[in-house]
Amino acid sequence: MVSKSCDRCERTIEFPDEQAGAKVECPYCGDMNTMPALAGTHVPASPGVRSGRAEAAGYPPDFGPEQRVLMVRPAWVRSRPFRAIGALLLAAGGVVLGLTHLVSPAAVPKWAAIVAVLAAVGFGGVVLWWWVESLSAALEVTNKRTVARRGILSRSTSEVLHDNIRNVQIEQTFWQRVWGVGSIGISSSGQDGIEIEMDRIPGPQRLQQVIDLYRPLD
Ligand SMILES: [Zn+2]
Repeated sequence: MVSKSCDRCERTIEFPDEQAGAKVECPYCGDMNTMPALAGTHVPASPGVRSGRAEAAGYPPDFGPEQRVLMVRPAWVRSRPFRAIGALLLAAGGVVLGLTHLVSPAAVPKWAAIVAVLAAVGFGGVVLWWWVESLSAALEVTNKRTVARRGILSRSTSEVLHDNIRNVQIEQTFWQRVWGVGSIGISSSGQDGIEIEMDRIPGPQRLQQVIDLYRPLD
């Protein structure tokens, strides 16, 4: 067994020898801890990545207790500005026509008012759905890992440890670059393919730079 006290909750955590030197989650608080190497084997002076680059850039240090560095949610208007503005204008137009009918029924016949209000509800509902959809997804970067959460009723999460990240990719179409949004994909050395992928992220370059601060770069 290897044991140490947790970086955050300071309770003693124990793991089998195979976990010596590995990053493990504290069973009590969920913090990421680097287990010490076995006695008699080579013990690095400071286990884990301690480049100091994150601290130098004004972010939480890349060692010690797990802390949130930043959290982003997909943009809901900025990622589709023309469609969002169009839908909102059509919804507003429908409301205006409906109200006009109430004020002067001669100007807008009843059937036209009903159609207009139904259209307003439909277009407004689409925009509302985009908003709920963006609220239901989040990408959280801590000083140890990046976690993607999505889902409204059923939550799904996926995560990568920064020590294991092999590649961070950003994809932007021309218009996405104009509006400052894009998709980000993170792949790790442990698995094939992209482990974390999220579309419509605002400021993807900044997100990539922050993640890079916590990655072991040669
Ligand atoms: Zn703990």
